[in-house]
Amino acid sequence: MFKKILIANRGEIALRVLRACKELKIQTVAVFSEADREALHVKEADEAVFIGPASSLKSYLNISNILTAAVQTGADAIHPGYGFLSENAQFAETCESLGLMFIGPSSQAIETMGDKAKARKTMLEAGVPVVPGFSEVYNDQEMADRAEEIGYPVLIKASAGGGGRGMRIARNAEELTEAVQGAQKEAQMFFGNPELYLEKYLEEARHIEFQILADKHGNVVHLGERDCSLQRRHQKLLEEAPSSVISPKLREKMGLAAVQAAKSVNYSSAGTVEFLLDKNNNFYFIEMNTRIQVEHPITEMITGIDIVKEQIRSAAEEPLRYKQKEIQIAGWAIECRINAENPEKDFMPSPGMIEMYQAPEGSGIRVDSAVCQGSVISPYYDSMICKLIVWGETRQKAIKRMEKALSEFKLEGVSTTIPFHLKVLGNPFYLRGKVSTDFIERCVLS
Ligand code: ADP
Repeated sequence: MFKKILIANRGEIALRVLRACKELKIQTVAVFSEADREALHVKEADEAVFIGPASSLKSYLNISNILTAAVQTGADAIHPGYGFLSENAQFAETCESLGLMFIGPSSQAIETMGDKAKARKTMLEAGVPVVPGFSEVYNDQEMADRAEEIGYPVLIKASAGGGGRGMRIARNAEELTEAVQGAQKEAQMFFGNPELYLEKYLEEARHIEFQILADKHGNVVHLGERDCSLQRRHQKLLEEAPSSVISPKLREKMGLAAVQAAKSVNYSSAGTVEFLLDKNNNFYFIEMNTRIQVEHPITEMITGIDIVKEQIRSAAEEPLRYKQKEIQIAGWAIECRINAENPEKDFMPSPGMIEMYQAPEGSGIRVDSAVCQGSVISPYYDSMICKLIVWGETRQKAIKRMEKALSEFKLEGVSTTIPFHLKVLGNPFYLRGKVSTDFIERCVLS
């Protein structure tokens, strides 16, 4: 097992990884930017190294400063958390070459899955169903021909895309040109890569993703699904596990496809295979995230497995400790992402000082956060304040518990998404589990 892990991240995920390290009796090194001098992850770690100014480009994305910190403190592994460098194949490769273990899959697996068009092709070859579409589209005419071929509506996506960016729907040939231009511009701006690909746009689909655990000895299991259909602009806001529309039989079938997807790239860490599920229960691969995800706690709540600890163990070359048949799902878990955003004003970020902070407590409640009273939500980073996660014996009990926990949450000084979550939970369609990826925009915000 590792002796010392450097955590190349900030916020709640840095603290989450710190806790796992402490339980495994591993020393920790935090890194921090100018804006995070007073941050909790800095205080909780055994050591902390300053890595640059507030701007992420100069600190949390600064490979050379982070690697210097790791070498100087004698760390033997690096946990990248999510976001920042977590899916940067070059970073993983540089870690490998310096003899630092990157806690994640191989750089090749990151690279294959990071290029979405390449990932589509790899999945097709592995026999995993993908959304009807085309991985390689070279010019406007070809785009128009291919779109006709698969039939409108179509979705134009950036090969290097992420976070819902670089994606545009075209409902007919007239809309196509503008959609392509928009997607291209965004792809260039955010990812420095204008490459696009084309998919059939699946209406009223659900986003169902499978948590994977894999080791370096070829063993792969899945920990069941998460339903992340509640999204705004293709970004998740509220997640639950299991999904109310997945029968044990469908779980087995989709789980098998997810394991197959992971095996096809020799996956060897925690990861997530994302699918869209249509109204007829046909499922299609959309992408694989090769890192720990924001919403991993709901899977931990229903399986009792600590995914971060397993991820660290697998990086240390320990064999998986679970066989597929030993993994049991119990009860229901829901996560609400509490962001410093104003839902009344188009979810505009609301940075500032948290003047009052009292999180709900009690049986079945978990709060993953990195803030306390007096903490400042910085405009430099994402606007998440914390994640509120609840567990209940049934979906209904979990919803009730979440409603109560949200109402008890005392958070003042910044606007938050708490009122929005309460609105979703009270929606009769949500209560009946009748949602899809366009539900929020169609039924809650309209
Ligand atoms: P990103 O990496 O930007 O998050 P994804 O490919 O994971 O992009 O897609 C994000 C979301 O966009 C999905 O959860 C879904 O809501 C929507 N989406 C993606 N592909 C399709 C599609 N072919 N049809 C309908 N919706 C889609």
